[in-house]
Order: sequence, then structure tokens, then C-alpha cells
Amino acid sequence: MKHIFGPVPSRRFGRSLGIDLFPEKKQCTFNCIYCEVGNGKPVKDLVNFDYQLVIEELKRWLTENQTNPPDFITFAGSGEPTLYIQLGQLIEKIKEITDIPVVVLTNGSLFFLKEVRRNCKRCDYLVPSLDAGCKETFLKINRPHREFADYERYVQGLIEMRNEFKGHYLLEVLLVEGINTDEKEFYLLKEKIDMIKPDRVQINTVFRPPAEGFAHSVDEKTILKFKEIIGEKAEPVKYYSKKGKRIATLKGTLLEDVVLKIVGIRPCTLKELSLSLSIEEKTLEKAIEKLKEKDKIELLNFKEETHIKKKS
Ligand code: SF4
Repeated sequence: MKHIFGPVPSRRFGRSLGIDLFPEKKQCTFNCIYCEVGNGKPVKDLVNFDYQLVIEELKRWLTENQTNPPDFITFAGSGEPTLYIQLGQLIEKIKEITDIPVVVLTNGSLFFLKEVRRNCKRCDYLVPSLDAGCKETFLKINRPHREFADYERYVQGLIEMRNEFKGHYLLEVLLVEGINTDEKEFYLLKEKIDMIKPDRVQINTVFRPPAEGFAHSVDEKTILKFKEIIGEKAEPVKYYSKKGKRIATLKGTLLEDVVLKIVGIRPCTLKELSLSLSIEEKTLEKAIEKLKEKDKIELLNFKEETHIKKKS
């Protein structure tokens, strides 16, 4: 499949079936230092294409896995989904074929555009991010395209989207040690979060190999300190632990393709892959060995764990 991947182990959304609108190449308005997809030049232009293939693939996946549906369908993957002009119509189509809640993970940089806010309105969970309390940190951590470097406009877009959106609005803040972790930054972030008024604030950190080696995760103490400042809406993102049912159809090169697709979007540990795909680690090890022989993946040690990542 070109656009559908997973289900991936999501810390926030359990077994999450992913839709990648830009499978060929990362397309994002930001180039965050912590990006799991890797380094890439930020883009500014909206994108359009026929979504029929996305719908066909999704229908096929849901039919083949009727007894084992995912918890969520999530727009994620190699870029910023709100760059896609027909995102609203595509979500409408998905709603016609399934009741599974739809999530849009976004950096929120395009919310200042009315048509982008309109596109996002049909999803059930909207998860924009805000990692900085001021422009200086914003430029340092998110490294936006210069067209989207206006921090005030960015925050205003997040506020406007909040006011117009009727579903669950979860703001994600990702903490990177020494970049957005001093107390002053925490209070500036709180000020902006109070203006945005999300339903919840999800506190995250660097759990997977980042685009830049200097993007380090924070310790629990820092997360708890930030949580205390933000108040009752704040919740640290926990490790994925839900185990799904076994997907019987996956074996041989088909399994290799699925693994490759997942680790191409997000580096995963063997355990995460096993939990998400409900396939024994032993079976997965064979597929990983094959992919290594074919020079398609690499193994990276990060935070005392081995992550499997697609070679670029
Ligand atoms: S982390 Fe998300 S917002 Fe940041 S560059 Fe990567 S895809 Fe874009």
C-alpha cells in the first residue's frame, strides 16, 4: 500500500492506522530538530492530488482486517497533512466508510488560513503542536519555512482553530533538553496555552532517534515540573502498551513491506512493532534480518534501546 501504514504503536492513540499523504518524500512547513522522519527542507506550497487511491487502500485494509480494527485512523507520516488541499473532503469520505475516529496530527502552522481550518473541522481529534513560548525558541526548535516564521500569527491560528473546532483539541508540547526547558520558557508556554484553551495538553519528549543528534530528551523531573506549571489539563504521554489481536495475513515479504513502511515513518523498537502488529518478536526478527541483508534498514541505539529505522 502507498498511503496506509501500520497499525503503528502510538503513545497517544493505541493501535493507530496511519494515512501518509506524502509517502514519497517528507513535505512539511517545519524542519523540527527532533523530527523522527529526518532532516528535510521545509516547504511552503499547498499540495493537491486525487484521493481515490487513499480511499481504495483504506477500504481494502478495513475489509481484510474486519475482526481487528484499529483504535484510530490517524493522518500522520512523512509530513504536514494540512498541506493537502482536499483534506476536508477526504475526511468526509472516510466518515462515509467507517465510524473509527479520525485524528489529525499537525504542527498547526497553517491554521491562520481559513480553508485549512475548514478542512480540519471534520476530524474527531485535532492534535496541533506548540513547542515554544516565544519566537526565538520557535525558530530554534521548529525551524519553519520563512513564510511561516511569524510566531504571533502561528499562535493566533491555534487560537482561531480552537474557537472554531467542536471536537477534541489536544495540544502537544514536546520538550527538548536545554532548548525549551528553562523556567521562563515554561511560563511563556503557559501564557500561550491559556490563550489557546485546548482540552488537554500532552507533554512529550524525544523518544526516538531525532533529526539532530543534539535534540535530547528530558528527564521525568522536568516533565513533572512543566506539568505542575500547566496545571490539571497537562498529561505526560505514556509508553505504548496496548496489545492488539494477531494480524494473520502478514508474513514473508508482505510482512517485510509492512515493517519497512512503519519504520520509514517512525523508528520503532522490536517490542513496539510486536505490540502494534501483534506478531511475535521471533517472527519479526526474521523479517528484520531480511531487511538488513537487503540493506533497507539500520539499527540505531537511542535511550538504551535499539530502534529500527528505514535507510534514507
Ligand atoms: S516533527 Fe512533524 S512538524 Fe516537525 S518537521 Fe517533522 S513532520 Fe514536520
